[in-house]
Amino acid sequence: MASSAPLSFSSYRTYLECPLKWKFLYIDRLPEVPRGYFTFGRVVHSVLEELIRPYVVPAPRRPRPGEAQRTLDDWERSGRAPRAPPALTREELLALYDRAWLSDGYVSPEEEERYRSLGRDLLLRYYQRLVHDPPHPVAVEEHLEAHWDGIPIHGYIDRIDRTSSGGLEVVDYKTSRELSGEEAQGSDQLSIYQVLVANNYAEPVERLTLYHLRSLTPHRTAPRTPETLERLHQRMGSVADGIRSEAYDPTPGRHCTRCDFQSRCPEFRVVPPPDDARLKELVDRFQTLRRDEERLEQDLRRTAEELHRAAEELGVHRIPGSRSVAIRRREEAWQYSLDAVKPLLDAAGLAERVGHGTPEELRRLLRDPTVPAELRRRLAESGSRRVKWFWELEDSAGAG
Ligand code: SF4
Repeated sequence: MASSAPLSFSSYRTYLECPLKWKFLYIDRLPEVPRGYFTFGRVVHSVLEELIRPYVVPAPRRPRPGEAQRTLDDWERSGRAPRAPPALTREELLALYDRAWLSDGYVSPEEEERYRSLGRDLLLRYYQRLVHDPPHPVAVEEHLEAHWDGIPIHGYIDRIDRTSSGGLEVVDYKTSRELSGEEAQGSDQLSIYQVLVANNYAEPVERLTLYHLRSLTPHRTAPRTPETLERLHQRMGSVADGIRSEAYDPTPGRHCTRCDFQSRCPEFRVVPPPDDARLKELVDRFQTLRRDEERLEQDLRRTAEELHRAAEELGVHRIPGSRSVAIRRREEAWQYSLDAVKPLLDAAGLAERVGHGTPEELRRLLRDPTVPAELRRRLAESGSRRVKWFWELEDSAGAG
């Protein structure tokens, strides 16, 4: 049955990568194999959420259809007013990290320990910066939904900050090894978050940021233009249409190496036993022939070059072998630039004869006896000649 669930960034990205993988994940709900680096990212995100939450001062929201305008007073009355930061001490932060730690997906105890110590170091450095330069969040780990011109979308946003000019900054943390500014510029994830925040908050989105945690570097960009958002809307619309029409074709590629569903995927179906030995032989033979073909092509090119050098030295064009004669043929191609030819024709009052300036038109002019011989000579000189030599074989008997 087709899904009408709202599209998240990862759902959209997965469908673009491979619709069948999307089906395995979002319709069949098959679990993925846990991976250490994903677990690590989740743990760090959850600790940061706890660390930043006390700093939150909410911002006015747009009312949902049928809902009264929500104000900051409503929020104050809910008893969730912010505590005065800093809310956690360094020791409490480390204790929180230890409690949050998960061991899923690491390939060895050594790998787990490496990640664990990386996380400890990263959080302590982040904490240091936080104490000296506290953030101004209006929300952390917030789940937002929106109807984007007919496409339901949703997402969990790591952080929404208030900017110094009173607008909003969307922040997404990244625990990856590397992160470049270009990634922030081109991130569809940030674009989707911009739309979600703009649809849910009263104040404008002024900045989009991917925050690289390992280097404590915020990669900031301006909000997307309406044209960029329109293009993304079209792409998401195509994905939503594909899901609605249950188009789940596999799309194999390099990404298959990271896919946990190869055993269910028709692209990776194994050859059944009665045929596998015979087909294995065929594949091996194909591979050998391919290698021979490449070797022969190289050999052929080298031999033709050697014959050409000999023909040049001896000033001959026919070289007999024992069964056939190798004949050197020549192919010429003249190239003319309109910029070089046009002034000559203009000066001779023949500008209209050049037409579109195609090589064939210019060649016709060079053969045209009504064009003065001197002009034809100068036109010919303005071109450049490309000569290509090639060899043909003629039967010795036929040649004789
Ligand atoms: S193995 Fe490749 S083609 Fe098959 S479902 Fe996974 S990603 Fe798609």
